[in-house]
Amino acid sequence: MSRCSFGDRASDRHLCQSLVDWFGLFARDLPWRSGRSAYAALVSEAMLQQTQVSRVVDRFNQFMKRFPDVESLAAAEQMEVLAMWQGLGYYSRARNLHQAARVIMDRFEGVIPSCPEQLQSLPGVGRYTAGAIASIVFDRPEPIVDGNVQRVLMRLHARRGEQSGSANINWTWKRAAELVGTTDDPAAFNEGLMELGATVCSRNSPSCDSCPLADHCRSLEAGMVDSIPRPRKRAARTALHQYCVVFRRRDKLLLQQRAGKGLWANMWEVPTIESRTRISSESIVDRFPVPLVDIERIDRFVHRTTHRDVTFHVYRGSTRQRSGHWHDIGHLDEVPLSNPQRRLIAAVLD
Ligand code: SF4
Repeated sequence: MSRCSFGDRASDRHLCQSLVDWFGLFARDLPWRSGRSAYAALVSEAMLQQTQVSRVVDRFNQFMKRFPDVESLAAAEQMEVLAMWQGLGYYSRARNLHQAARVIMDRFEGVIPSCPEQLQSLPGVGRYTAGAIASIVFDRPEPIVDGNVQRVLMRLHARRGEQSGSANINWTWKRAAELVGTTDDPAAFNEGLMELGATVCSRNSPSCDSCPLADHCRSLEAGMVDSIPRPRKRAARTALHQYCVVFRRRDKLLLQQRAGKGLWANMWEVPTIESRTRISSESIVDRFPVPLVDIERIDRFVHRTTHRDVTFHVYRGSTRQRSGHWHDIGHLDEVPLSNPQRRLIAAVLD
């Protein structure tokens, strides 16, 4: 098979057109793709950071039903926005999206800007998201680079090294800008590049046989697909222990809100103390913020976040305390609780 050469405009145009044609035929039917509204793009891009498409689809539809436009999102209470984000994790994205909606109302008269610089002035909107909205919604020839796009471009060019290296990141942005500047359809080209990385040129088992860019791929030609990009060295994970006590009084549970910074910031939880190491039952009783009459151990499980292994030690407890936030068990859906908090509450109530 003869490969196309790189670097000349005709070859780049051919590559772009192959991808645009493929995307037209094989694009997945995803809810944020219908209508191409800037608000839908802003919400979906926030949800898709670090979260798989299959998990986002349902949450996206529910979120858009409750907050159909920038105005309704800006007017909402943070607690309600966080509650609608449940199941997606990385709640800082929800807080930033909420803040971005308020900035759009205050500074842009409720209209999401098309200019990448103005988009990047919004909380939580970086170069990638700004490029995605500017190109996909407003058809501007702006590059986008995420992990998928970088992997595709590095493989196409048989570019060695780790994805996370700054030289490769800078090179990828430059190459993505060259390519999107060549095509007549920046929206379909950028979406096609993301789609190809997500569905065909996957990290562990790329489907080169069905790739529309196989004729352009130097890694395929050189038999180097499996070694590009080089696997990243993983940072050491840290351990964290959370000691959680579920207090029930008739049909209510005692809840508390977490601090505004750090893990699960501003989320709600049953009364909990944290420690980097395991602690004894006596220490739990001494340190607990709620006076304990007694506690009974119910469960223990490990929840993995990006950088931590969090062990949840789950107890049922009783207290004479009547103050604090006692919440109706029948309305826990309205409270922003992390997935492990929902799991441990269920373990105690079942
Ligand atoms: S030919 Fe294979 S390695 Fe090259 S871009 Fe296509 S799927 Fe990726």
